[in-house]
Amino acid sequence: MIQVPYLNLLGVYQDRDRLLSSITSVIDSGWYILGREVAAFEAEFAAFCHAEYCIGTGNGLDALRLMLLAGDIGEGDEVIVSANTYIATILAITQIGAIPILVEPTRETLQIDCDRIAKKISDRTQAILAVHLYGQPAPMDKLTAIARQYNLLLFDDCAQAHGAKIGDRRVGSWGDASAFSFFPTKNLGCLGDGGAVVTSNAQIAEKVKLLRNYGSGQKYYNQLAGWNSRLDEMQAAILRQRLPELETKNAERRRLAQRYEENLRNLPIYLLPYNANAVYHIFPILTEERDRLQQFLKASEIGTLIHYPIPSHHQECYRDRPWTKISLPITEKIAREELSLPLYPRLTPEQQDYVIDRIKTFYERS
Ligand SMILES: *Cc1c(COP(=O)(O)O)cnc(C)c1O
Repeated sequence: MIQVPYLNLLGVYQDRDRLLSSITSVIDSGWYILGREVAAFEAEFAAFCHAEYCIGTGNGLDALRLMLLAGDIGEGDEVIVSANTYIATILAITQIGAIPILVEPTRETLQIDCDRIAKKISDRTQAILAVHLYGQPAPMDKLTAIARQYNLLLFDDCAQAHGAKIGDRRVGSWGDASAFSFFPTKNLGCLGDGGAVVTSNAQIAEKVKLLRNYGSGQKYYNQLAGWNSRLDEMQAAILRQRLPELETKNAERRRLAQRYEENLRNLPIYLLPYNANAVYHIFPILTEERDRLQQFLKASEIGTLIHYPIPSHHQECYRDRPWTKISLPITEKIAREELSLPLYPRLTPEQQDYVIDRIKTFYERS
């Protein structure tokens, strides 16, 4: 029987020997933190994103948090954010004392509904934090207009969207600053934790650079009470090997997504319309039979995941927060109905046909 794991990272990359030579050269350099690999990767990734600056961080959550802090977001400030997101987006806001103002996504895009933003803006609103969830670009053109109209900062969480575009500009070049994660499973992943803030704003770049390194620009002189959150030389060297292949890998993801979309569109499930600007970190489908379908696929040795089963406003950690005392029917429905199908470079046609065939069989029987 064919097996289809939800993800097979060894299959995705197959770059062991090239990585070994990069890692060896880092070992031999005798310099492991904030050296030439990080500086080179930062320059290369900024250029890839069509932006001026990139500052490597320890992980994606820290990138989000340091980015917001660098924008002077803090205690009591309100940040408009899509309710349909991964918890890390929300954690970054609450960890700096700010308040997430959750906005429903649209049923069609599953991304933030721009028409619902205006009525959520108060005199404490400081910023919009967009999320390119699943690798689908958020409507940055409309969000830019809203941010200008209300004099708000515009940030975006690009952890699932390396290389995604809005028009002809990549994510990372929109808004005031953007946060990325290089967690191993992301479209651009390293062999551990890693992240980055990308921006074309020199002040924000300078402040993130201080904040990630104890708040210190010059050794032992501290301008800010900062953190220790740096991308390390080893991970940067790995990312430099992988960045040149990102576009090819994203194209492969798009090809697989289009194939799923064409073959599943007549079933009683909701699929996002195919988008050539998306990078398909996740291929979500929505179905009322979600749990039964997941069990059925599991019995067929097909791995799936749910992104995400519990929305942020229902998480135990936020039980007592006033901003969670709201009803978000669209977000809650997505949490009940979303199922992510296996989609990654080097998923074989046989594997994908098998997934498609099993899903069709499930609906024929029910
Ligand atoms: C992965 C992810 C993060 C967090 O990145 P880490 O590197 O794991 O801290 C933040 N936001 C979104 C949308 C993510 O998918």
